[in-house]
Amino acid sequence: MSRCEECGYHWDGRPAEAIATIRELPAALSKVIGERGDRDERLRARPAPEVWSPLEYVAHTGDAIGWYEQRIHRVLTEDQPKLEPFDWDAYTEGQQYRERRLDEVLASVGWRCATFVELLENLPAATWQREGVGSGGQPRTVEQLAHRAAHEACHHLQDVRQQL
Ligand SMILES: [Zn+2]
Repeated sequence: MSRCEECGYHWDGRPAEAIATIRELPAALSKVIGERGDRDERLRARPAPEVWSPLEYVAHTGDAIGWYEQRIHRVLTEDQPKLEPFDWDAYTEGQQYRERRLDEVLASVGWRCATFVELLENLPAATWQREGVGSGGQPRTVEQLAHRAAHEACHHLQDVRQQL
């Protein structure tokens, strides 16, 4: 069994486990953030210039889940699509996540997770092994993409938990 050394995410888990991780993210984030209001400085403070703030991690996680949903959509609808890499650090710098309202960011994560879970729950079993081509040229299955999305949820939930 391979696991992420930092957050413990199970890379070899069943698809149902990836789905559960994504389904549970919004409630888990709400629990970690708790009663902190928009004015709580810790939400927007970067521990170091190159380390994202909790609000940036939360916003990024929502965007990343939406991005993985698009990748899976391509693998489902195209023949072996080539999946390009994406520079999240550069993208995040341009998004001004720290200017956003906490409730809007959480709402965005909520609907992205719900949409993604709905897509995954309705996949016929055989389509989990459908493949695209990863940025390094290796095959990338729907199942692997779902685990990557779930790992984003698991890993950044831990980042936020550690920071707050
Ligand atoms: Zn991790």
